[in-house]
Amino acid sequence: MRDLFRSLRFRLLLLVLLALAPASSLFIYDAWEDRRRAEAEVQHDALRLTQLVAANLDGQVEQARQLLLALSQLPEVRSAVEGCNGLLGRLLQRLPMYENLGVISADGRLVCVAGPSAPEGDLASLRDYRRVVDTGEFTVGDFHIGAGPVIGLGYPVFDSTGRTASVAFATLRISRLDRQAPGRPMPEGRVIMVVDGRGTVLAHFPDPQRWSGRLLPDEPVVAAALLTPDGTREVPGLDGVERLYAFSGLRGPAGDLHVLIGFDRDSAFAPAGRVMARNLALLGLVGLVALLASRFVAETMILRRLKALVATAGRLKAGDMAARAYVGGRDEIATLASSFNDMAVRLSAEMLEEQRAKEALARRVDELVAQRTQEVDVLNRLGELLQASDDVDEAYGVIGRLVQPLFPDESGWLAVYGGGRDQAEVVARWGPDRAEPPESIFRTDSCWGLRRGRPYIMTGPRSGPPCRHLPSPPPTVSMCLPLAAQGETLGLLHLHRGPNPVDDAAATFPETKVRFASMVAEQIALSLANLRLRDTLRAQSIRDPVTGLYNRRYMEETLERELRRAERAGRPLGVVMLDIDHFKQFNDAFGHDSGDAVLRRLGDYLQANLRRGDVACRQGGEEFVLIMPETAPGDAQRRADQLREGTKDLRVAHLGRSLGTLTVSIGVAGFPEHGSTPEGLLKRADAAMYRAKQAGRDKVVMAE
Ligand code: GH3
Ligand code: MG
Ligand code: MG
Repeated sequence: MRDLFRSLRFRLLLLVLLALAPASSLFIYDAWEDRRRAEAEVQHDALRLTQLVAANLDGQVEQARQLLLALSQLPEVRSAVEGCNGLLGRLLQRLPMYENLGVISADGRLVCVAGPSAPEGDLASLRDYRRVVDTGEFTVGDFHIGAGPVIGLGYPVFDSTGRTASVAFATLRISRLDRQAPGRPMPEGRVIMVVDGRGTVLAHFPDPQRWSGRLLPDEPVVAAALLTPDGTREVPGLDGVERLYAFSGLRGPAGDLHVLIGFDRDSAFAPAGRVMARNLALLGLVGLVALLASRFVAETMILRRLKALVATAGRLKAGDMAARAYVGGRDEIATLASSFNDMAVRLSAEMLEEQRAKEALARRVDELVAQRTQEVDVLNRLGELLQASDDVDEAYGVIGRLVQPLFPDESGWLAVYGGGRDQAEVVARWGPDRAEPPESIFRTDSCWGLRRGRPYIMTGPRSGPPCRHLPSPPPTVSMCLPLAAQGETLGLLHLHRGPNPVDDAAATFPETKVRFASMVAEQIALSLANLRLRDTLRAQSIRDPVTGLYNRRYMEETLERELRRAERAGRPLGVVMLDIDHFKQFNDAFGHDSGDAVLRRLGDYLQANLRRGDVACRQGGEEFVLIMPETAPGDAQRRADQLREGTKDLRVAHLGRSLGTLTVSIGVAGFPEHGSTPEGLLKRADAAMYRAKQAGRDKVVMAE
């Protein structure tokens, strides 16, 4: 139901109905007025007819009066009080409208009479008869002589003294009343009544026998007639049937007579009803035609086009961007359709634009992803190569070679912290402009990046003060990226371009370059940290923690390697076994820590006095092994002796206390003279060292 109210078609229909409403109500009012007029006409006609009948009746009464007047003058009537029958009989034959003609004496005696029925009873008691006698005037009244609907009329007959001697009477038949209006046929179902002024029904058609002579002043129809001498009214008749009654009264000297004609309502008002029905049918027809026409117009000119528009909108919504509305004409709908099309054109253009933007964005994203992937690849490769480096020195070289192609427009260098945290050393350089910091070693507080612990980017003098490690004049743009890994700053990656004051447009680093450079710095830092860690771990695994010399395992590996190399090259190799004399006494006298201090001191001494290529190891306890490649036994013995001599001059102190002097006993063996396996050579050197002990310590003994 709500859908129906919402539908455009229904609303248009409502509009048409609203538009038709004033005209139709006018029309209906008019039809109603027509009907009212027609009814008034019917009433008027009814009254006219009744008046016509009444006038006729009036004429008849007047004729009767003249007849009675004439009769009253006749000598037969005046004097021959008896024997007037013959005269009246002849007269009655010629006047068939009368039922009776007769004379009644003043004392109520029937003098003479003519007619089918004679009056009966006490005539002197008849009221109207008495009235004629008393008034001496023509009277219409209750001279009910005989049967059937009649009007009794009485006229005084005077004697010579002027007294009313008798009354001449006539009873006028009123059975033919419906023929009293010539040329006006009575309608079907009508009722005609004649009533006297007292309410006595003198005549009633149909059914005269039932009603004639009855005094019914309280019957509504009779009362209405007595109240309204001339007029119409719808009242129930004597038979109880409601009709349209027209009344017409005769008021003459003889008394009152009322003619009433009742018309069947339905047939009386039928023409008016027909007029109304016809008008309403016409209205209905016109309304229907208007509705059909408006529906047709609405359908073809509005609804169909709107529907087409809605359908087009639906197609557009569904994604058919080519959907366009049919414009046709210049009315509002056409304007709407045209605007819709404009909108569709714009919309599809915008969507196309959006699509293109999306594609461009997708391409850009792809590019970025590809670039990112490439960057990650490069970084991975950098990481791998750095990781594959043997030590940090090799890694610096790798960095110098690999970073340059990543930043082809920039020159740069890599600096790492030295022993302390206040100096950094440039360890790798690259790029077309190998502008260096003034010195290879520079103070770390001369770099804003290192000072602040985050990238420092300089793009021209306005972006901030130049770092002091930069050359003068400083480069146009520069970037100082601290290398930080595992919470520790390891050094600095520096990139710069210029100086080239003309090329202002290039005087900046794009965001992507800064980001990538940061990633490179991160990768380098991470790799360097890893390499350092690896170096540390390796050092820990091959070094003796007390003396810092190589440990026994490393010594054995090295001896094996060096022996093979000596064998291949046909070169000699010296092995020196060294043991501290009476070392136990240091421990006993000064404690274990002091013993360690002695070991450390001797380790430092040996390390410092070795030749390049020699390897010093702590074999265990207070025994040391020196491997001397390319050294013949004689040379090895000479050098061992120098070491023995030097050891005696060592001043060892611990916690500010002098621990006295120390001496060592040394055994020397050589390849190929004393053996060709590590075990054999060590065994021979050990045996020689043992003999040195035997020989009183502080000696060098050559293996046998
Ligand atoms: P000599 O070689 O002259 O015959 O006498 P010595 O006292 O040096 O020889 P010995 O082999 O009897 O004693 C070696 C001592 O060295 C035993 C041990 O307490 C001590 N020692 C071994 N390793 C360490 C070390 O790492 N630190 C300290 N403080 N003492 C050590
Ligand atoms: Mg020993
Ligand atoms: Mg010893």
